[in-house]
Amino acid sequence: MTPDNTSVLLIYTGGTIGMIENVETGALENFNFEQLQKHIPELQRFMFRIGTYQFDPPMDSSDMDPDAWRKLVRVISDNYDRYSGFVILHGTDTMAYTASALSFMLEGLNKPVILTGSQLPIGVLRTDGKENLLTSIEIATACHPDGQPIVPEVSIFFENHLMRGNRTTKMNAENFNAFRSFNYPVLASVGIHIKYNNVQIRTNGRHHELKPHYLLDTNVAVLKLFPGIQENVIASVLATEGLRAVVLETYGSGNAPRKEWFLRRLRNASEQGIVIVNVTQCSAGTVEMERYETGYQLMQAGVVCGYDSTTESAVTKLMFLLGHDYPPAKVRELMGRPLAGEITV
Ligand code: ASP
Repeated sequence: MTPDNTSVLLIYTGGTIGMIENVETGALENFNFEQLQKHIPELQRFMFRIGTYQFDPPMDSSDMDPDAWRKLVRVISDNYDRYSGFVILHGTDTMAYTASALSFMLEGLNKPVILTGSQLPIGVLRTDGKENLLTSIEIATACHPDGQPIVPEVSIFFENHLMRGNRTTKMNAENFNAFRSFNYPVLASVGIHIKYNNVQIRTNGRHHELKPHYLLDTNVAVLKLFPGIQENVIASVLATEGLRAVVLETYGSGNAPRKEWFLRRLRNASEQGIVIVNVTQCSAGTVEMERYETGYQLMQAGVVCGYDSTTESAVTKLMFLLGHDYPPAKVRELMGRPLAGEITV
């Protein structure tokens, strides 16, 4: 059901969905929004207003960065009262990072912000982009009988699932079914019908005001452990000038080597105010630092639990919290609290 004031702002950032094959070189190149609309004449069949905003030039999502996220937040916040929902067309490669960042930057959101893209360009006959775009628009305008949007959060729609943005990871570079939310149920399944998983959808309530945030601090590193990792590698990362936080990708339920030098280096970094967050390398499951001695020792070294966070979410949440200039203790505390449904504690 869509009420009379239904309207969607379609924001085109770039990515495969908006690409076309250069006939001479065979390489994929960006094309503009008018051409996109020409390839999807079905857009005209929606009986409500669809506004458009285009990044110029369009970006391959590998070039996405906090400036682009700020621009998205600005566009959404400037148009917040004019549209009932937002659909962002985005490259798939870093879509999960953008969705995670937006979930923190758009505090108090009570309208749908849906990111989607495609594996095959829209100009290709078998494209998955058309279906992804049309369904995203439908979901962005779906309302309860009282007029409230059904999915008022930042989400990713791909293939046939709507997923919470900050729970999602790109896990397939080939299949149309490219994204998964391993640690949180899907928000909707799409087949003949769109089945919403209402109890899992996060609502802020209609009286919440949007509070856009623009400050992000990128002095963050991701450190992925592997058997045999050398002390000088760990030491160099932790000695990075200006470094304020590390996402430590550990094994299993949050385990790491018990080597004396390793724990000492982590402890020293923590004592110097570097926030170290423990996130598992496993796709699914959660960090439980008290479960094994190996995790427990990390806790003793000042490392904090990242629970079932994706790396994408942990990185962007740290940028967001550090952007507030909170002291390390406050950042550590907030990493253990869900701000936008990103972890299960
Ligand atoms: N390289 C593209 C991007 O992320 C891939 C895609 O859109 O699927 O922008």
